[in-house]
Amino acid sequence: MILTINCGSSSLKYQLYSADLAEVIASGIIAKIGEAGGYADHKVDDGKTRIVRDIADHQAAFTLMMENLLSPDIGVITEPAQIIAIGHRAVHGGSTFVESVIVDDQVMEGLRACSTFAPLHNPCNIAGIEEAMRLFPGTPNVVVFDTAFHQTVPQHAHVYALPYELCTDHGIRRYGFHGTSCRYVSQAAADILGRPIEALSMVICHLGNGVTIDAVKGGQSVDTSIGFGTFCGMPMGTRAGDFDPAIIFHLVKTLGMSLDEVEAICYKKSGLLGLSGLSNDMREVCEAAAAGNKRCQLAVDVFVYQLRKQIGAYAAAMNGLDALVFTAGIGENSAEIRKLVCSGLGVLGIAIDEDLNQIARNGHPDISAADARVATLVVPTDEERMIATDTLQLTMQRA
Ligand code: AMP
Repeated sequence: MILTINCGSSSLKYQLYSADLAEVIASGIIAKIGEAGGYADHKVDDGKTRIVRDIADHQAAFTLMMENLLSPDIGVITEPAQIIAIGHRAVHGGSTFVESVIVDDQVMEGLRACSTFAPLHNPCNIAGIEEAMRLFPGTPNVVVFDTAFHQTVPQHAHVYALPYELCTDHGIRRYGFHGTSCRYVSQAAADILGRPIEALSMVICHLGNGVTIDAVKGGQSVDTSIGFGTFCGMPMGTRAGDFDPAIIFHLVKTLGMSLDEVEAICYKKSGLLGLSGLSNDMREVCEAAAAGNKRCQLAVDVFVYQLRKQIGAYAAAMNGLDALVFTAGIGENSAEIRKLVCSGLGVLGIAIDEDLNQIARNGHPDISAADARVATLVVPTDEERMIATDTLQLTMQRA
């Protein structure tokens, strides 16, 4: 069996696959690690069990996951050795990691070096790998990087027009995130269209609490909306998206804010939450907008406008567009956002069928209108499966 691990700052998500990846045998989340109200949700088939317990740290979270997997009542394995490989999600691989790798000392060193770029995320990912190595000695660990898929973005698209030495000497560039999702979804979209991915230009709209718009040409990421940190590009749940950096100087020098305050504004108090004043959750913002809340309506309008602009920019950057693909929480579930976005993109040959748009999640991924020149698809993302696939491939190659 193959286990995937996704360690966030306060959560650990796991999924256990059969050795051929045909079946998800169990999955779960350990939440509120290091906070009050910790719990684990463990799922096997249709059954879910919740265990409520304080979880001090990632080590305690791993212990709880193993208790669940080995439990005589809700467990699915009888000994850890049944797990033949473990795949881990890592947020930042810098320019060092262009693809998934089997973990060794050098990889761990590289991961630690990348922590300066993702100080909130990489240390948790590292803690997860170290704990897996301790609990499963001799079992191969594979690490899959969110940034790796975007390492194909050409220099003219990833460099910032800053003094060049700053870029070359200090690793300052556009890295991009959600690469594992974009890689999975772009291949799935090509499969749905029944065309080779090498022949397609696609814009992938990963619209979740975090948002990435990705230009994928010939199966490679050629531009991506998030940059060096994780708050630029599109407005997100609580992150600002693009704004003029002169505002940061103004906030610090004229309004007297500290850099920590400005950082908290950019990452935690902006986006849908900042504009609406109500919520970072698109569903709540849409509902309040429909009920007449003007600031929520503004948040929806900004989101939709910026998204249309980004799609248009990437269609131009690729000199054409074959498919527009929606994924993640908003992209998969909000027929309203899809309709609003697509209704302004007729100029690109995008047109959707509103009846198909309403039933997109029920096995109707292609929501294009009959006369559309560009296919519009709704494709559920599955980062865990991508991690499991890389883990299986790399460990088979090594065997
Ligand atoms: P994710 O980060 O992929 O889990 O996506 C979370 C986002 O998806 C939140 O903003 C949710 O409000 C949003 N979302 C989920 N379902 C819907 C829906 N039916 N309509 C609008 N937004 C939704």
